[in-house]
Amino acid sequence: MARLAIDGGKAVRPHMLPYSHHCVDEADITAVVETLRSEWLTTGPMVRKYEEAFAQQVVATHTVAVNSGTAALHAALFAVDIRPGDEVITSPMTFAATANSILYLGARPVFADVQPDTLNVDPKAVAAAITPKTKAILAVDYTGQPADLQELGSLAKSAGIALIEDAAHALGATYRTRPVGGISDVTAFSTHPVKHITTGEGGMSATNDTKLAQRMRWFRNHGITSDHHQRAEEDSWFYEMIALGYNYRLPDINCALGLSQLRKLGAWLARRTEIAEQYSEAFKKMPAIQPLAQRSDRTSGWHLYVVQLDLDALRVDRAQVFAALRAENIGVNVHYIPVHLHPFYRQKLGTAPGLCPVAEGAYERILTLPLFPTMSEADVKDVVEAVLKVTSAFSI
Ligand SMILES: *Cc1c(COP(=O)(O)O)cnc(C)c1O
Repeated sequence: MARLAIDGGKAVRPHMLPYSHHCVDEADITAVVETLRSEWLTTGPMVRKYEEAFAQQVVATHTVAVNSGTAALHAALFAVDIRPGDEVITSPMTFAATANSILYLGARPVFADVQPDTLNVDPKAVAAAITPKTKAILAVDYTGQPADLQELGSLAKSAGIALIEDAAHALGATYRTRPVGGISDVTAFSTHPVKHITTGEGGMSATNDTKLAQRMRWFRNHGITSDHHQRAEEDSWFYEMIALGYNYRLPDINCALGLSQLRKLGAWLARRTEIAEQYSEAFKKMPAIQPLAQRSDRTSGWHLYVVQLDLDALRVDRAQVFAALRAENIGVNVHYIPVHLHPFYRQKLGTAPGLCPVAEGAYERILTLPLFPTMSEADVKDVVEAVLKVTSAFSI
């Protein structure tokens, strides 16, 4: 058996393969430069163009571009009128920003446990967490696989509350043949460089509800009812501030990049799916490696490829597998430390281990493998080889 790099053996590859990487080409650069030479650097025509192309992509009536995925979540929760004292049910298996956006509005995140095979929030746990104070469900499409939107939508409907979707992982995903973006009351996307397409930093909220879209447009512009571009067109100085908003505007420079990136999404998504399928096929022969279950009524956006280690089949823990794979120059990662276990949340909400046992148990076993569209066949082969090398060395 080959000696592990962590024990002084030769690494599977000479350079670190990151878990995710953006792709910017000459067309993207040209689009940005053209905007830099134009009249409008922000609140200009590129914003609307990018929003319209994005709306078409996700099949939603309205899209509102903002300067981060976190801002998109904040705007979505503001739009459905989340207020201090309200409760919003969400998943612990996510990036902290999901739950943070609830706290920004003075509301309380309530963590519902996940399903053991997909690590998406469990509708039964959500149902059990609904109280008279609950005003919304904030579901996360973990790794890119849509959450149980039908079940969660029914729960929201019968409770008279909103369903907001954190689709930061799920641009291009579908649920029962419908694209993610026009299904929940509001869907929030991120265009951070590790995500499907990038605008440097950025986010997008999508909705089919005109009123909610209007509220999100105010919210990203200080709570003001018209923007600079509209006033220029109307030759008017008049505006009104009607709510406390923020400056969450996404500049035209970034929108030009997003519009150009969007043209490549289809090809990138196909490549992500292809790599994910290659991994899943290869891991069938490795009992210590369990990919997440994929439900047959939806397609994943494949932002992340997450596996669960069968720790009963290994004589080491996840930390040692992680270190050994990093030594082989495979940039594995862990998504995520359950949000309720972060010191801030323990202190703020009094959460503790035991609150979401399925998520906590999964956290001990998960590993994210590299997945991005510009990975070569050789890169994919290296990952499979390294995972096989490390897990067979550590197998019982
Ligand atoms: C990336 C991400 C966010 C935040 O997006 P930003 O653009 O970084 O603010 C929120 N939720 C999830 C699940 C994410 O992965």
